[in-house]
Amino acid sequence: MKTSLLHKLACPFDKNDLDLKIIRQEGDTILEGIFTCTHCKRYYPIIYGIPIMSPDEYREKSLEHPVLHRWGLQIDNDSQTFKLLAAGQEI
Ligand SMILES: [Zn+2]
Repeated sequence: MKTSLLHKLACPFDKNDLDLKIIRQEGDTILEGIFTCTHCKRYYPIIYGIPIMSPDEYREKSLEHPVLHRWGLQIDNDSQTFKLLAAGQEI
């Protein structure tokens, strides 16, 4: 996705602002990265340049986890929500 689109994005769940951690970028295109909602703390990865911002019920943890693991991010496997872990605790 293009960096120029960043300001148009909000959390699809609660419409709050998103933090972005860029993992890989080429020019003005973000190839890999992860959005985190400043309010509900859900994460939305950018994989192959595509932001995965579907509602929880349309997401597949098993598809996202290998990528997030490769990025060195800890995920709460047991939780039904899509939130990152920091040092073993929910953010
Ligand atoms: Zn949110």
